[in-house]
This record gives sequence, structure tokens and C-alpha cells, in this order.
Amino acid sequence: MGKPLPMEVISSTLLTQDELGTALAGLTVTIRASLTGVVHSPRCRQVGKKAEAEKTMTVGELRAAGDVRPCRTCGGAIVEKLSHDQTEQLEALVPILEARREQMREAERKEREEQDRIRRADMIDERAHHIVHRWDWKIEEEKRTVGRYPTSRRIAAVPCTDCEAEAVISFDPRSLDVSYRCQADPEHGFVHLNEESLAIWQSNDENKLIALGLVAPVLAGRDDAWTKTYATRVDDYRATVSALEAFDEEHPPPLRLVPDRRCGDCSGTLRLGPRATTGSQRIEAHYSCENRHADGKSRRHEQSSVDERVDRILHRRLRDHPSWATAAELEPSREKVAAHFGDLTKKTEIFDAHIGAAKSVDQLVKIRSRLVEELELVREIHERGGLAAAGLTRYAAGAPYVRHWTFTDLARAFLTRRIEVTGDSIKVVTVFEDGTPFQRLLRSREIRAELAELSQRQEELERELADLDRE
Ligand SMILES: [Zn+2]
Ligand SMILES: [Zn+2]
Ligand SMILES: [Zn+2]
Repeated sequence: MGKPLPMEVISSTLLTQDELGTALAGLTVTIRASLTGVVHSPRCRQVGKKAEAEKTMTVGELRAAGDVRPCRTCGGAIVEKLSHDQTEQLEALVPILEARREQMREAERKEREEQDRIRRADMIDERAHHIVHRWDWKIEEEKRTVGRYPTSRRIAAVPCTDCEAEAVISFDPRSLDVSYRCQADPEHGFVHLNEESLAIWQSNDENKLIALGLVAPVLAGRDDAWTKTYATRVDDYRATVSALEAFDEEHPPPLRLVPDRRCGDCSGTLRLGPRATTGSQRIEAHYSCENRHADGKSRRHEQSSVDERVDRILHRRLRDHPSWATAAELEPSREKVAAHFGDLTKKTEIFDAHIGAAKSVDQLVKIRSRLVEELELVREIHERGGLAAAGLTRYAAGAPYVRHWTFTDLARAFLTRRIEVTGDSIKVVTVFEDGTPFQRLLRSREIRAELAELSQRQEELERELADLDRE
């Protein structure tokens, strides 16, 4: 690129208005601006028909109006004749501008290199993923190049997913086999389903990342893109997860944003799994138990059917007492809401400080977006109140007239103490259980209100009767 034209110097965003100085900023320029932001001198042959009409303004005004790119054919404008001083000032700015342009080009080049490195790392990672997950037809393809790989196995010791013993994940670069073996029991890490052995050791995120770390560098060979991008991924993953766990342990959440859903068989927490499609199978969104059960069967309950059942129980409970749903006692205190907001903000910061090379690990992506959703929800609770944010004020107003009602998860959290789910039953402990102090309080409040209404009605009737008797 040649030496910058005067207009390029005085309109450049790489120089500040201060650096330009008042003398240059006060120069007048006459331009025609095209729709694309390129400016021309009025008689330039490159000016399109749709360009704006000719305008004269100071350089300061031109800069204030936004970015412009001067046309290189015509110089971009008719610039007022420069005085001797102005010419000298302009000349002095040229090397500064050129140095900044060079810096910018350098930064762009680094950025492009980095993008390219990440793209290459991701391609290698994806191939490693196919090998770890035993995608047969991909492995057939990969086998064509195994001759180039080193012959020695690569291994990593991990804690067994099923017992206290150590297990070893290993990768054989020549056969492309990835295996897992618990020292105590070779069956560990696998389940047998209709003659097929399923490698459930891989469903542990950390194991999966470790296995990828054994395979990927072999596939990468001399290309260090993968190592540069992902070598610290397992450590970053671990650091993020354990920092969040440590925070949770020290800070029990001041607010419950989701109900306490438990496994009816072992009391373990039920976690929500997303809807997914694997091959021809579609798995609906479901709740599943965090614990593995001795019978080896997973506890999985379809989300929609659990939620519907909970809603029906709540609705039945509240239909004759809709005012209970908006009892002031259910409203979380402003202190708790503020504390929860503070905790979530801190957790987001902890997450971002540790995430490093693990930022695209599925599980962590989900945790991050859940944190953002929760922050949004708590902000709404802060602004509108918890009962309104949960849709409970709307419920109290309209509930008696509808047959079914879909509660928000926040409403379910406010109205239930515990939900226990087994394969064939759902037990819901509401905050309104008969005989509890809270239910007695709500019921007596309700009876008092009804009695007050009745006695007012009685007075009215007695007055009417007395009027009739008098006549
Ligand atoms: Zn032009
Ligand atoms: Zn084991
Ligand atoms: Zn369980």
C-alpha cells in the first residue's frame, strides 16, 4: 500500500481527533458519499448514481458522522488548500498512521493464523472423537494411514467409574483400539445390552477428554495445532468443575429455582437430560437419577409426563383455594433474591476464569448457558417479584376457570417441597400439606375472610328486612 493520501490521514480512525489537532480538524472538505461508505471528490468517475449529493463540511464534522473510506482514485474529497503549518502537521502524522496500520495488519494476520490453527485442531479432534466412539466406517478410513503412527500404546490412569480401584484407558495407534480396563473388575465401565457391550466409561466427560488426549496427538503427527489448542483441556475442565463444586459447597443456594426432584428408589437427585436423536432412536427430554443402581438399570422418566402429573396434583390442590398460590409467605425476600443474583454472578466469573481450553466441552457449554438463564430469571424475580415471575399471580386470577394448567418450573419450585419419582409413581409433597402450620395459617386466613364476607351479607339482609317491616 502506497503512502497515505491527505484524506486518508485526516479521516483515519487509527488517529484520534486530539492527535489530528484543531488546525487539521477545522479544514473543510467537499465530498460525495456512496451508499457503501466510500467517499469521493464530487467529480470522481467512480461515483455511483445513487451517491449522496455533494456536501461541504469540516474534517471534525466528517469524523463525527462515522467511519468513511476515501476512494483511492480521486483521493476521497476536495480538501481545502493546506497552509504550510498544516502540511507539516499532516506530514508528521503519516509515519504514526503507517506504524498503526502495520500493527493492525499484524494483529489481523495473527488472528487469521489462530483461526486456522483452531480449525485444524478441531478437525483432528473430530477424527479422534470418531475413533474413541468407535465409528466403524470412519475407523476404516483412518486405518489407511496407521502405518505412519508410532507403535507403542499410549495409556492414562484414571479412577474407575464403578469402584475405588484404578482403571487404565489405552490407545493402540496401529489398531486404533481405545480400551478401558478396571484393575479390580474387567466388567467395570461397561454394560451388556442384548449381547452388545456398551462402553459407559465414556459417558464420563473427563474420561472422554482423556481418551481424546491419547488419540489426537498421534493423528496430528508433526502438526502442533491440536496440542497448542487443546493440551490443557482436561486440566481446564477439571479446574472449572471443581471450582464450581467448591463454590456450591460453601454457598448453598439462597433460592430454589427448580423443584427438588428425587429418585424414588434411592433419593438421588434427578437431573434433566435433553431430547436427543441417536441413529433411528429418539430420546425425549427426561429426568434421570444421578446414581447408578445395583440392578444396572438406568432410572429415566420422561420429562413431560412427570411435569404433567405434578401440575395436575398442584392444580387439584389449589383449585378451591387459588389465593394460596399467591400467599405473601411464598414470596422470596429481596435479600435472598439479591444474594442469589450475587452468587450466580460470582459463579459465572469463576467459570470464565477457569474454562480456558475446555470452553467447547458440551457439558460446560450447557452449564454456562444454564447460568445465564438463571441470572435472567433472578433478574426478573427482582424486578417483578417471584410470584409474578413464576406466573402464579396469573394462575390465581384465572385458575378456577381452566381444566388443566401448566405451571412454570419456578412455580413448581415455590409450591413443592419435594417430588419423588419411580417407574410407576410420582409423589408430590406440596407446601400446602394438610395439618402443616402453613396450611393451617392459609386455611384460617381463608375462613376469616369468608366469615367477614358472610357477616357483611348478614348485616345487609337484616337491614333490608328491617326496612320491609317498617313499611
Ligand atoms: Zn473517487
Ligand atoms: Zn472398577
Ligand atoms: Zn436413584
